[in-house]
Formats: sequence, structure tokens, C-alpha cells
Amino acid sequence: MTPAPMPATDADIRQRFLFEDYDVRGEIISLRGTVAEVCARGGYPRPLRIQLGEFLAAAALLSANLKSAGTVTVQARGDGPVPLLMADCSDRHTLRAIARPRDPAAGCGDDLRALVGQGHLSVTVALPDRQRHQGIAPLEHPRLADCLSEYFSRSEQLPTRLWLAADGDAAAGLLLQALPAQRQDPAARARTWEHLVALADTLTPDEQLGLRHENLLRRLFHQERVRLFDPVPVGFACSCSAARIGGAIVTLGADALAELFTATPEIETQCQFCHQVYRFTPAQLSARALAGGAPLH
Ligand SMILES: [Zn+2]
Repeated sequence: MTPAPMPATDADIRQRFLFEDYDVRGEIISLRGTVAEVCARGGYPRPLRIQLGEFLAAAALLSANLKSAGTVTVQARGDGPVPLLMADCSDRHTLRAIARPRDPAAGCGDDLRALVGQGHLSVTVALPDRQRHQGIAPLEHPRLADCLSEYFSRSEQLPTRLWLAADGDAAAGLLLQALPAQRQDPAARARTWEHLVALADTLTPDEQLGLRHENLLRRLFHQERVRLFDPVPVGFACSCSAARIGGAIVTLGADALAELFTATPEIETQCQFCHQVYRFTPAQLSARALAGGAPLH
């Protein structure tokens, strides 16, 4: 019997790695099924599939450091043809993403700044106790990885750089982050950081999308001692539910709902992230209201 062929790349996994001799850590991610799932649900054209792939990879890389339950959201907002592009990743390694073009039928290029227009990039860490930490940077580069690297140069004390690649069907990302001083003196830390960043800058999109993680790290850092940790599976999932969406509708208030139901026997709504359609009758919403939402009557 012929064994099943090994995939050429790692599909939908994230892996942490450490440099044994330096104060630097890394994360590496590959996404394929997740990009396909997100893009099929949204019916996005290829330039937006590429952007969403990079946003998904970035959110997954940045969420790897979550110390507790929470979600990391990477979002670009502006006044251009695509005023909103965003992806989030939870501590449970679930990913989702959306793009909101003004005109879904219009063609678009692959320059992030041109797509989103005058605006900004934000990275938000939301924790379960409603705590939120948000950092903002202007959108000054055509590529998300460069915008994020700029964001970190402004907001983080520890140097952090990202390299992202996507082709519309798959996405990949690499993150390097300096760790608090442990093994090296300041001069050696600075030299090492520059050296590792220069090596990572030689990555091509084909290598990022085509090489398995261990081969990519060997190709970049073959003279260094790198410890690669076990892969963590990541994938698309949405946190929406009939209970959550019904609860949100009930908060519109009795008058607004009564008016809606004069025009239709059922309210139909769609989750903005996964495009799942939910339908509610007045009776279902009354039950929802009784279960804890706002009073319907
Ligand atoms: Zn959903």
C-alpha cells in the first residue's frame, strides 16, 4: 500500500521556538484550511483573501503569548475602499476574520494602505474580566507586517518583528521577539537581534508558504541552536450562538422590535464573522427576554 503523501507544508499549526544561546524567542505559523474557511464564508476576491490571510497569521502569532483566557484582535480601519479589515485569535487557538469593502463587486489592489485609506492599525488584547489593552499605530506601509513592526517599535519595550506571507489560499507568519535579559549583556543582545532580523529579512514568500517549519528555521538559522516546540493546532471557529445574537436583538427594546415584526413574521440576522444566519419569531425573542434580556413587552 502506498503511504499518503506528506503535505509539503505544515497546515494550520503554530509553533514556538527558542534560541538556546540568546534572549530571543519566536513563533511560526502556517494556515491553509483556516484561510479557505474564512474566505469561502465571506466570498472575498483574491486581494482581500491575501490581506485576510496575513491578518489571520498575525493575530495567531500575537495571541501565542496570552497568559490567560482572552482574545487578540488585529484591526485596520480607515476611509478607503475597504474601511475595515480585522482578524482575532483566542487563547483556545480559534481564529476568525472579516473584511468590509464598501463595494463588494469593486476590484482592489494588494496595497493595505491603499485599501484601507487614511486610518490606523490597532492591536487589542481583550481579557474575560472586560479588561482591554489597546495599542494604535498609523497605517504607513503597504504591508501589514511592516505596519505591525512599526507598531511594536512605538509601543513595546521588547523589540518585536513579524514577517507575513499569503497567496489567497494559504498564509504564513514568523515572529521574533527579544526576551528580558537573561543570557546576554546589552551589547551582545543588540548584535544578536540585528543578526537574527537580517537573516529573517532574507525569507521569500515562496519559502514561507512552501517550507515546513523545521526546514524554514534550519534554512534561516542553521548556525544557531534553535529549539522548536510541539505544534499547536489552530483553526476557524466563531463564538456566535442563537442565545448571544437573540440577546443582542432583545436589547433593541420592545418598541423597536414591535415595529420590526409589523413588517415581517421573523427577524433574520447574520453573524458578521461567520455569516451564519439566525431567525427569530416574537415568541422566541420573548423567551429570550424572559431568560434575562431586556423586557419585550
Ligand atoms: Zn459567527
